[in-house]
Formats: sequence, C-alpha cells, structure tokens
Amino acid sequence: MENRPEEENPPPVDILADETGEGSDHYARLPDRLTRYAVARHRAAAMAQYIAGLGEPDSDRAKVLRELDSCGTYLVFRHYLESDRVRLHGMRSCRQHIICPLCAIRRGARMLARYMERVELVLSENPNLKAYMVTLTIKNGVDLAERFAHLQKSVQALNKTRTGSRQSSELSKAAGGMYSYEFKRGENSGEWHPHVHAVWLCEEEPNQQALSLDWKRITGDSYIVEVHALYGELVDAFCEVFKYAVKFGGLPLADNWEAFGSLRRHQLIGSIGNLRGVVIPADLTDDLLDEPKWIDLLYRYIDHGGSEFGYALERETPSVTKFDTLDHETYSAEYDAAVRSENRPAPPWAARFAPDFLPTKQPKGIEDTGAHVAVLRDS
Ligand SMILES: [Zn+2]
Repeated sequence: MENRPEEENPPPVDILADETGEGSDHYARLPDRLTRYAVARHRAAAMAQYIAGLGEPDSDRAKVLRELDSCGTYLVFRHYLESDRVRLHGMRSCRQHIICPLCAIRRGARMLARYMERVELVLSENPNLKAYMVTLTIKNGVDLAERFAHLQKSVQALNKTRTGSRQSSELSKAAGGMYSYEFKRGENSGEWHPHVHAVWLCEEEPNQQALSLDWKRITGDSYIVEVHALYGELVDAFCEVFKYAVKFGGLPLADNWEAFGSLRRHQLIGSIGNLRGVVIPADLTDDLLDEPKWIDLLYRYIDHGGSEFGYALERETPSVTKFDTLDHETYSAEYDAAVRSENRPAPPWAARFAPDFLPTKQPKGIEDTGAHVAVLRDS
C-alpha cells in the first residue's frame, strides 16, 4: 500500500474543496471521501492518546476524551440510485472541531455551503459587488490566549468603523463580509501567529496602504495587512477563509491541545453587513435529497493497529438485490438497531480513565463484503 506520512496529506484548502466541490457527492468519489474521513479519525485517535497521557486524569479531560473517542466510529451514507449521488446521513460527532479533524471537515463544509448560498443571493441583488481577499495580521507572541484576545478586540473595533459615524476605515467600503481566525507558529521564532482571513464584498476596491494605517491605529502594534482582488472562483476565496477549521489538524499534537485550551470557548468566525445572520446547521451530516430510491451504507471505523485503519462497509440496507421489495421503514428500523449494536474495543489508554472507559467486549469483527471499497491504508 501507498506510504504517505501525515504531513503530506492534502493541504486544508484542498480538503474543503474536495469535500464541497462540483460532483463531490458522486458515488464514484465515496472511496476518496472515506479515505479523507479515515485519516481525520486516525488523527483524532492520536490526539486522544496524547491527551490521555497528560498528567493526572481529571473529569474535564475525561469528558473531552469520551467525546473524541466516540466521534466518527460509524458513518451512514445514503446512496441515491437514480442520481448516483451519496449523502452523509448519520454519524456520531463530538463537535470539538479544534481537536477533531473529522468534525472540522464536516463543519467547514457545512459553513462553506451555507455562506455560498448567501453570497450568491447577495451578488444577484447587487452585481456591482466584487469579492476581495483581506488578511489582517497581528504581531507574534508566546501567549496564544493573549494574542488572540488582542486580535479579536482589534477586529471588533475595526468592525465598528464600518458604519460608525465617528470613525470610518477601509472596511466602510464593504457591503458585507466574513472572516475567520487562523493560528500557526512562526517558523523561526516559534511564537504564535494569529491572523484573520476575510472576504469583503465591495463596489470600490479597498486600499491596502489605507487599511494598514487603519489597522495600526486600532491595534497599536500591528500594521501588516493584505488586500487582493479575487481572480479565481468565488468558492476558492471562501475555502481560504473556512480552511481555518481544518488547519488545527496539521498542528503538532501539543500545539493543537494548547490551541484547544485557549480557543475552545470562542467563536472563530464572524460576518458583517449583508453576510450577517447566515444560519449554520448544528448537524454535521448532509442535507438529504428528495429521491425515492436509495440504499443506506453503514461504514464502521476499524483500526487494526499500526498502519492499517479505515472505514469498512458493514451493512447495506436494503441490499441492491432486494431492492424490488423495498420497504424503507422496516429497513430503517433494522438499520438503527445495527448502528446501535456498536461493540468495539476500548482504546489503549482507557484504563487510566476508568470508570469512564470500562473495557468492553471484543468486537464481533467487521466483515469486508467486497461490495464496496473498504479503505485500509498505510500511513
Ligand atoms: Zn468529532
């Protein structure tokens, strides 16, 4: 099998583009999707092991671990037979997107889709608006929480200048916009480097030099900003903004855990003007299609230890051969029972966190039916 270390996984922007792009829900793309999710789930397991090994167990960490460990253990995809499209219909999710790449991918994809709907509506109402990519940076620092607080406060102050009567800024040119906070370590200094990626919708191009002055006035210590007109597809610009969600999965485990501690209670995206009020569904699964003929595919995450892990098909309901006698209600009931019957081994660190992780019975064994690609790969 292919040997691909984690750092060579696709960059975050590509992950989101693959997840949401044209034809991404086609049945032929399901194996890619399962691989993407399996890699994410595998990283979450590594994160869990790291967290479990830190200091004395406490109840907050036990809760974090319980959620993380149970996330993505199964996935139910609905395969629509007429359009040959596939939607994620069921999963157990932990919603700790900073330390869980699977939740991060799903959340990023859901947000991206909702914002794109709004943007298309806004642009159809005002075709003179153009999208600009804006980056706002803040001076590096060793204390992530302090730097983030400073950046967040500065962004809020900048937002007030958009329609403020006393102060204006280049942001006043934006009819709307959305932004996210992104975090990395400076390559040489090792200091945290929080920054903001934004898309602004403006009739008149924002001026980079003027924005730099605005930003210096607001932050007191930082003036580096970038403004670019958008040349590619609009969706690429929004992928750039939403990639913050999946970038945490690329941080070293210790940095990722530190970021979780500092940022978990904060909202890491925001919107202004005519992009405000976009409702992000709490559910991380896909919107379903209105098509009568479908089968559900239950995949279970398996990890044989070492380099073999992935999602394997456990059950297909109804099977294609039984399709003529389709009775979805019966099948759905059977399916729910199958999903609930989960029986997997406790993670290696579980004993430290007893009684939260009592050892469970051995798994009954997941059969690879061969009907679909079971994603087992080397890492
Ligand atoms: Zn999760």
